[in-house]
Amino acid sequence: MNIVLIGAQGSGKGTQAEKLTSSLGISHVASGDMFRKAFDEKTELGVKAKAYTDRGELVPDDITVAMVLSRIKEPDCARGVLLDGFPRNIAQAQALDEGLKDIGRQIDVAIYLDVPREELLKRLSGRYICRANQHVYNIYANPPKVPGVCDLDGSELYQRSDDKGEAVQKRLDIFFNETVRLLDYYGSQDKVIVVNGNRDIDQVHTDILNQINAFMERKKKG
Ligand code: AMP
Repeated sequence: MNIVLIGAQGSGKGTQAEKLTSSLGISHVASGDMFRKAFDEKTELGVKAKAYTDRGELVPDDITVAMVLSRIKEPDCARGVLLDGFPRNIAQAQALDEGLKDIGRQIDVAIYLDVPREELLKRLSGRYICRANQHVYNIYANPPKVPGVCDLDGSELYQRSDDKGEAVQKRLDIFFNETVRLLDYYGSQDKVIVVNGNRDIDQVHTDILNQINAFMERKKKG
């Protein structure tokens, strides 16, 4: 199964992606994590992308599409992928559909995690992620057991530079002006599930699983 998870910054997308990939046994492909890792490793791609990510802008489509499509072709993605943060606009969605078609695959379902903008801003101000594996915490709603330390791998927690100041507003503007159009794109293919993301983490997870099951049943029956 190949899934696109659509949600604004702070919608709980990363957290739900972790839970879903482990429940469904598919691979988690997060474009933002890939860019941050590339930068930490000082690769050419990472250095190029950093100028955009720091400003809260999108990295150009050609760079992003090539990076994600090549990741999807890796062996661990053969059983299915959950795409998190990609696609971010219609051009990327079209390129993804074409790239998947070339390898005999397709997106099965697009899940939209719906959270109001005021709530997103509140959550982003408390968001910390771990240096080693990008595990996500929130100092208000989902704090680590030891402050500043990841529960899962012991690495340092830090606040992303683009979760602060002007970059946050810019990223939310891009989401609400551009990325939400993906709902029409996947809606026209009858592939959208909308989930109320303004609830407890486990409730949201259960709702997503139930809705995926109902959706797949409906598709099977035609
Ligand atoms: P994220 O962690 O998903 O919020 O992504 C962090 C940053 O990486 C974004 O603000 C963009 O600069 C870049 N990025 C991640 N995914 C994409 C994408 N699909 N298209 C363009 N830029 C992206």
